[in-house]
Amino acid sequence: MARITGVDVLDIRFPTSRELDGSDAMNPDPDYSAAYVVLRTDGDVDGHGLAFTIGRGNDVQAAAIQALAPHVLGREVPRDAAALGALSRELVGDSQLRWLGPEKGVVHMAIGAVVNAAWDLAARLANRPLWMFMAEMSPEELVSVVDFRYLSDAITPDEALALLEAAEPGRAERMSVLLAEGYPAYTTSPGWLGYSDEKLAGLARQAVADGFDMIKLKVGGDLDDDVRRMRLARAAVGDGVRIAVDANQRWDVADAVRWMKELAEFDPYWIEEPTSPDDVLGHLAIAQAVRPIRVATGEHVQNRVVFKQLLASGAIDVLQLDAARVGGVNENIAILLLAAKFGVPVCPHAGGVGLCELVQHLAMFDFVAVSGTWENRVIEWVDHLHEHFVTPATVHNGRYTTPTAPGFSAEIHPASLHRFAYPSGPEWSTS
Ligand SMILES: [Mg+2]
Repeated sequence: MARITGVDVLDIRFPTSRELDGSDAMNPDPDYSAAYVVLRTDGDVDGHGLAFTIGRGNDVQAAAIQALAPHVLGREVPRDAAALGALSRELVGDSQLRWLGPEKGVVHMAIGAVVNAAWDLAARLANRPLWMFMAEMSPEELVSVVDFRYLSDAITPDEALALLEAAEPGRAERMSVLLAEGYPAYTTSPGWLGYSDEKLAGLARQAVADGFDMIKLKVGGDLDDDVRRMRLARAAVGDGVRIAVDANQRWDVADAVRWMKELAEFDPYWIEEPTSPDDVLGHLAIAQAVRPIRVATGEHVQNRVVFKQLLASGAIDVLQLDAARVGGVNENIAILLLAAKFGVPVCPHAGGVGLCELVQHLAMFDFVAVSGTWENRVIEWVDHLHEHFVTPATVHNGRYTTPTAPGFSAEIHPASLHRFAYPSGPEWSTS
């Protein structure tokens, strides 16, 4: 029986601040980074996972992942729902680390990286892409990996089971559709705040030419600038293309409402992260004031408990789960089940380092085995840094190509791990 024999934690940083790729109202100088973890085994297959951070945050993130290593070293290689559920429960239950959360922030993201690496390992051993590995589990197995503590007032295990059973009959057909057609995407590449008007308009036109029917702009720096940029973008893409806007938590509630009233004439599809991701009541107040513009959040929502409140209160119209923010696949299954229960579409957050690679699997699993639909659903696409991945996410004609390689698509090329290692890699030591 194979065991986990090593936990490698690598600090990988890309100097993206040099080109202002990834710049927004709250993050003017992002160096996109990954605290990258490899679960080494005494068999032929390793598991890969990561937490996405920016710059110096990676020091802390990598240390947190290292702190979890004793739970994993020597452990039997996880292959099934029982083992993957047990691992997640043990990591979340480490009482001395739990004190730093509970179930939020750096430690929880570290758990997410390790849990995701374990799912990668199990899917590789099953010779399945992760979405298919998950979608081939029985409803009972899927329910068994979820921690329903703090959720049962909103969704019980029996309700979750019924949701999954209801989606079971169409699974095989939806898998074929997914493999043939891919999954709808939208692009954020035109809209970074640091880009010039010319670059914005050119990239917006290019996005439509590339087959996207939705783009996203960063807002929240200066209202006059945002009105000008939104007008330019609307003129560039025409009326038939959806334009979402993203404030990256920049506003208080009243600012969000005032700003969105000014942008409303350009028909924004959603306002993303208008305010603090913890502020359930704030999101509700904004939603009530700006509808029919949708309110979206999720990339910084720390766990399933906050998602429960955002959904149960009616504060969000779009749920943007993130593959590497919460406690990994297990908790994201809980979040997908909650969203299905409340009938709110999931449009995952992606970009960063490897987030497109990871989250496509969760959206595709949702399509096959949970919500059973991609209506009003799109995965974010940001065309940066994919060249560093062994099985990069790809988008053609506005749709993610359904991955077929075994695993969770998180593995980074050894040459990139060497070059961008911080601070010793050639990219950093010679600049
Ligand atoms: Mg965002």
